[in-house]
Amino acid sequence: MAVPVSQAWTVATYVLTQKLKGRKRFPLVTMLEPLFRCNLACAGCGKIQYPPHILKQELTPEECFRAVEESGTPMVSIPGGEPLLHPQIDKIVEGLVARKKYVYLCTNALLLKEKLHLFKPSKFLSFSVHLDGQREHHDFSVCREGGYDIAMEGIKAAVAGGFRVTTNTTLFDGADPNSVRGHFDDLMTVGVEAMMVAPGYTYEKAPDQKHFLGRARSRRLFRAILSNRKKSWKFNANYLYLEFIMGKRDFKCTAWAMPTFSIFGWQKPCYLLQDGYADTFQELIDSTDWSHYGTESGNPKCANCMVHSGYEGSAVNYTFGSLKGLWQTAKAMMNLYPDKGALDLLNEPVKPVHSFNPLVQINAQIETHVTVEEGTRV
Ligand code: SF4
Repeated sequence: MAVPVSQAWTVATYVLTQKLKGRKRFPLVTMLEPLFRCNLACAGCGKIQYPPHILKQELTPEECFRAVEESGTPMVSIPGGEPLLHPQIDKIVEGLVARKKYVYLCTNALLLKEKLHLFKPSKFLSFSVHLDGQREHHDFSVCREGGYDIAMEGIKAAVAGGFRVTTNTTLFDGADPNSVRGHFDDLMTVGVEAMMVAPGYTYEKAPDQKHFLGRARSRRLFRAILSNRKKSWKFNANYLYLEFIMGKRDFKCTAWAMPTFSIFGWQKPCYLLQDGYADTFQELIDSTDWSHYGTESGNPKCANCMVHSGYEGSAVNYTFGSLKGLWQTAKAMMNLYPDKGALDLLNEPVKPVHSFNPLVQINAQIETHVTVEEGTRV
């Protein structure tokens, strides 16, 4: 089991309750972005290109709690920016845990070891560490030499401290599937509870536009990586979503399943696009033209998207939509996906991006304490 039984039970009963109530569009995970500033400046990121006066702002704990209570989701993911830079991140996490929300604190782990003492181990809290691959690949991806080693130290310290630790790996064009499989082995060996993997999204604002994957290339890459999988690998993702990125099934985007709240309000329609903001979660649901989004909508911004914030909710919905969905999910969890063609893909020569490009370090100031007036909003 990749998540504790209590978490799986909470999510299952929540989804079934929403379905019994007949709610057509309901959220599953609140993506809470308490700030945008970061101590990395990754080439594939679309979140940190805001002007300084925006990067200085942050949500207060009370604003975070209000948003999560408004959406009512059983799970909260806290990305950013780098949430460990928020001066009250411990209060935010403590308040969400007290509300019995399953919290995934998404971090690049550069400050994890240093800030671990701020948190208490709990079944409701998991550090979700962003690690894009083995050392060379990760350092290239986050434009920071040594980033991998610091993150791994943070993971080991958190595991030793009794915390739940998961990982989040985003893959771009040029990823070496054999190296990614080795990365999974490394993560399981250091005691990571479960791993998340997804193709990167083509952010218009990201500095590196050359290495985003199209849908066909994503499916090929994930077929190579996730077929013939090892029993030891545990994934922190709906296993039908993994089939989706492997090209074994199709889903339509349900972006409302993972709504995003930040200093601007509720983001339309999803974590990745910015087509306006709503003041309340209900306004987000009611005022967004959802037919305008998803790959099949013809919206060019959605053409290549396969990210979990759009499609994992669809997989969860399918799982709990029928006995067939439950059965297929159970089978997917046991399946190691033997596939001779995928083994052949692993033997194809690859030219990882970092093998022919210099590592460009984009300087981002590592700030641990930033003074911002409480309650500052845009
Ligand atoms: S397809 Fe992707 S980018 Fe488009 S709405 Fe869905 S999650 Fe957002």
